[in-house]
Amino acid sequence: MAAQTKLSKFVETGRKIIAVGRNYSEHAAELGNAIPSTPILFLKPPSAYITQGQAIKIPKGCSELHHEVELGIIISKRGVDIPENKAYDYIGGYSLALDMTARDFQSEAKKKGQPWSLAKGFDTSCPVSDFIGADKIPNPQDLRLWLKVNGLTKQDGTTKDMIFNIPYLISYISGFFTLEPGDLILTGTPSGVGPVHSGDVIEAGLEDLIAVKFPVELRS
Ligand code: MG
Repeated sequence: MAAQTKLSKFVETGRKIIAVGRNYSEHAAELGNAIPSTPILFLKPPSAYITQGQAIKIPKGCSELHHEVELGIIISKRGVDIPENKAYDYIGGYSLALDMTARDFQSEAKKKGQPWSLAKGFDTSCPVSDFIGADKIPNPQDLRLWLKVNGLTKQDGTTKDMIFNIPYLISYISGFFTLEPGDLILTGTPSGVGPVHSGDVIEAGLEDLIAVKFPVELRS
């Protein structure tokens, strides 16, 4: 299979999803969190992926499911300890992604010093768009990210505002996790996160390059 065709199937072939928390200062502030001095990393399992045509399911016992719109980076080749000046060589493409978060589970976990796995990694917690080839986005550090709930704009930010930029994130992450083809890096969300409920419809997009639509339902 040609490399690009294979990467376009990252949802099926990718082996991990590495997410960065609090990478936009206004978002850190809106949740009352300090600006981090090093990237905050957490993982989602590949079973969290959904694509258009599927629904976001509110996990059992969750009363505060939040949307977070993020730029996703899709890794093209294996990389360990990647220097910042080589980081772009490892980007095969992009995806518009939602880091769906059970905020009540997360608040409880934070209080108890427990991991965020349940809050961030439940089934359907990683809705993604189709693959966008790297050639379509010459400057991923200057992209408008937007998200609407039931037609009302909730998030409208720019990737210019990341605290840790993309080369830094790739370099930092690859110092701990070997990056592999099809892996997805979620780069953090701008401000405006908030709750969604059963029956809501989330629409989100990256510039006018791509847009996605996902309904929200209760997990039955
Ligand atoms: Mg996030």
